[in-house]
Amino acid sequence: MGRSLIVGNWKMNGLAAALPEIAAMAAARDDLWLAPPFTLIGAAVAAAGGRVAIGGQDCHASASGAHTGCVSAPMLADLGAGFVIVGHSERRTDMHETDADVRAKALAGQAAGLQVIVCVGESEVQRDAGAVEAVVGGQLAGSLPDDVAGVIVAYEPVWAIGTGRTPTPAEVAAVHGFIRARLVARFGAAGQGVRILYGGSVKPDNAALLLGQADVGGALVGGASLTAASLLAIAAAAE
Ligand code: PEP
Repeated sequence: MGRSLIVGNWKMNGLAAALPEIAAMAAARDDLWLAPPFTLIGAAVAAAGGRVAIGGQDCHASASGAHTGCVSAPMLADLGAGFVIVGHSERRTDMHETDADVRAKALAGQAAGLQVIVCVGESEVQRDAGAVEAVVGGQLAGSLPDDVAGVIVAYEPVWAIGTGRTPTPAEVAAVHGFIRARLVARFGAAGQGVRILYGGSVKPDNAALLLGQADVGGALVGGASLTAASLLAIAAAAE
């Protein structure tokens, strides 16, 4: 599957003054992916110069229409974006997005020619209740399209996002192994080829350990993706 894929998610952070960070990432490597806010995507594509893949943090399920304030997958592609993140836990929580919503967005991303990162992950209450596989298995079943061409799965335990807490390497390996088994059971050989990212408080000092686990094909990085220095340090640690 090749080396680790490192994807940054800037969330609702980043003004034009942050564009030099993207230029610095692009100057250093040609294999990072970054999802800045919608407002910066066009300028980010220019700053990246084709060396950092730029993507959206969400998209609407429809290609166009009367949806004030929303952004469609073809709009992202039109700006030069190459991928879109769907089903991030912050959207599942804040915007009450269901698995069916996430699946519809994933289909829209595929239809626009984007690679699609589908996020899944349990809350702390669900983990404490021993429901990790039930929750993650249900999200996979409901959120993934029937064709996983261009699809990447991101396992992001909600309690690890932005908290500085992470699962143990063994816990990460266990869930990634479970996700792989579900992907293969449903999609066969295509499921074996789906990259699975880990996300949740990945930092330069824990990246090597977390990314060294079986079936971890890279990282989805929030806070530590905001500066080139930090994201580049994670990418270097992942090699
Ligand atoms: C995320 O938002 O996908 C994420 C993993 O955030 P953080 O790295 O800040 O925990």
